Amino acid sequence: MFWQKDAETMNRAKIKEVQLERLKWTVSRCYNNVPYYKEMMDKAGVTPEKIKTLDDVRRLPLTTKDVLRQNYPFKLFASPKEDVVEIHASSGTTGKPVVGGYTKNDLDLWGHCMARLVVAAGARQDDIAQISFGYGLFTGAFGLHYGLQKVGCMIVPISSGNSEKQIMLMEDFGVTVLIATPSYAVYLSELAKDLGVAGNLKLRLGLFGSEVCTPEMRKQIENNIGIIVTDNYGLTELGGCGVSGECEERDGLHINEDHFLAEIIDPDTGEVLPEGESGELVITPLSKEAFPIFRYRTKDISRLSTEPCRCGRTLIRMDKVVGRTDDMLIIKGVNVFPSQIESVIFTMPHIGPHYQLVLRKERFMDCLEVQVELIDGTLLEKYGELEALENRIKDKLRIVLGIDCGVTLVAPRTITRFEGKAKRIVDLRKA
Ligand SMILES: [Zn+2]
Repeated sequence: MFWQKDAETMNRAKIKEVQLERLKWTVSRCYNNVPYYKEMMDKAGVTPEKIKTLDDVRRLPLTTKDVLRQNYPFKLFASPKEDVVEIHASSGTTGKPVVGGYTKNDLDLWGHCMARLVVAAGARQDDIAQISFGYGLFTGAFGLHYGLQKVGCMIVPISSGNSEKQIMLMEDFGVTVLIATPSYAVYLSELAKDLGVAGNLKLRLGLFGSEVCTPEMRKQIENNIGIIVTDNYGLTELGGCGVSGECEERDGLHINEDHFLAEIIDPDTGEVLPEGESGELVITPLSKEAFPIFRYRTKDISRLSTEPCRCGRTLIRMDKVVGRTDDMLIIKGVNVFPSQIESVIFTMPHIGPHYQLVLRKERFMDCLEVQVELIDGTLLEKYGELEALENRIKDKLRIVLGIDCGVTLVAPRTITRFEGKAKRIVDLRKA
């Protein structure tokens, strides 16, 4: 099933033709309407007329998050303020948030991009979709809402929180599609089991996003409540979700390439890497009116492939993001992604999916402590077994991470649950 079959199955030459035409349009729009871009392009000696092929995108400067901070809140908008009808923003946990604006056309396009992704993932008009993302400035809830609404699903916009009520409505309404962060979905799936209603739920599909969902986490959710889990990708800086998503083949995320041009660069040198190599994902939206942006450095590590997909879509696929250069921890000089630790925790018996990472400095050395919940609390009294389990986890982490870390097993349900993005890292090194 396709939402916009013509656009999703173009041949490569046609895709490139559409991208070039839209790139030219975006570049002119930025040059003529956004003082920051005009200044940067003049400095780099590029005018809109110099964009003649798709590779000419490389003549444009890369944009980092700092540029967005410097132009906070509206200075990068290319539309007059009276044409902007909606605003979204990042959580901005450190300093000012990133602010994105949408014209009426932008909202319509956002809805279509999302409709494509949810249909590709398996959502249909007769689905009942519960949106358990927090509604608000965050793009996830509204993006999914607009997309599912175009498809014609019955939407239950419950937002996050009030978890028992979430389960009650799922059961009473016969909800078939769940939209949540993977960590909240794990929590809801455990709760449904505890309440003894997991078997009554009609859920068949999970549309997850906004944090990394490891294959192990996916398996756990699928086992708990028997649903198929798919991932989609986007960033506030790029207009929110809607950039890419998994089809039913679940073999990479199809990028809505006619509206987003993707490159992979070496994060250290900024050099563009050939297809198939892993590096930092850089995206240029091609159709945005209010908030266009050039070559945005996502800090996400991925890989691109134009190999044909079994689903019939010709849109390029990106690998599931394994980690952000931002989330990456440097411990004793070694790069560590929380997703690596998760992949160990989710495969070990006797321990639950909730964990916390505590980083300390001890005698000038970085120390990582992994706190994990036991499934059976009585194990805390059996010292021998407890120690043996801790050592098994330590050994496995050492193999995967290449460093030693401490493991502390704690009683069931003592680690904080999150309704949105999980905050799993406590870094006490600077304190
Ligand atoms: Zn596909």
